[in-house]
Amino acid sequence: MEQQTHFGFRAVSREEKRQRVMGVFSSVASRYDVMNDLMSGGLHRLWKRRMVAAAAVGAGGRVLDVAAGSGDIAIGLARKVGASGRVVLTDLNEPMLAEGARRVVDVGLLPGRADCVQSDGTALAFADRSFDQVTIAFGIRNFVDIEAGLAEFYRVLKPGGQLLVMEFSRPVLPLLATIYDSYSFNVIPLLGEKVAGDRASYQYLVESIRRFPNQRRFAKLIEGAGFGMVRYTNLTGGVVAMHRGYRL
Ligand code: SAM
Repeated sequence: MEQQTHFGFRAVSREEKRQRVMGVFSSVASRYDVMNDLMSGGLHRLWKRRMVAAAAVGAGGRVLDVAAGSGDIAIGLARKVGASGRVVLTDLNEPMLAEGARRVVDVGLLPGRADCVQSDGTALAFADRSFDQVTIAFGIRNFVDIEAGLAEFYRVLKPGGQLLVMEFSRPVLPLLATIYDSYSFNVIPLLGEKVAGDRASYQYLVESIRRFPNQRRFAKLIEGAGFGMVRYTNLTGGVVAMHRGYRL
């Protein structure tokens, strides 16, 4: 029998989750950036700035941004590694990657400095030990197999390379958790309906956040994939967490 997983709160087969996740991102791609600003009140820009600042890569570095979507992290890191560096944006979803490719051109990054390659984060189309830095922001929650993704990130990192993962997590203060819950379940699906014309995708977003492992459990999964010196930082009281680990 095929292994079961979850799509939001619903138990589904792995293949069904994969197809549904692709459906979500194909549906939201053209409104993705505006919805991020609206839902987070612009906070996602600050979170992402923190992530780019935390990346342990400098001029000339080679970076892989997995589940790159419209490219916020990749563009920030392309500036950080400079003209002698290279950033690869990879995403499984073609319409999302097309948004990333369009933005890369808009900000003047030429091929060679930032390149887009369609690939599954759980079966990356890149050689072993080929990147100094792997990043993934708000992507791994959508994977059918999180452990397979982490194993792939480890495989493509050079020894000494850093993995940075940003994901929605668990608010640490009870009052914040209550307000956040109410906002998530009442406001976000409504915004999805009114602005993106797609309530179901934003209902999936909030449900998938609740199902994702908390800060500690996720840190254990990263360690389980072989990473060392695993740490996390809570942002906005744990609404978001940034995990880091190294291939030692
Ligand atoms: N990283 C971008 C950001 O922070 O704005 C985009 C995040 S968006 C919420 C999640 C992205 O994960 C989507 O672009 C989606 O296509 C991608 N994704 C989902 N499953 C994936 C998989 N198995 N492999 C690669 N990308 C995947």
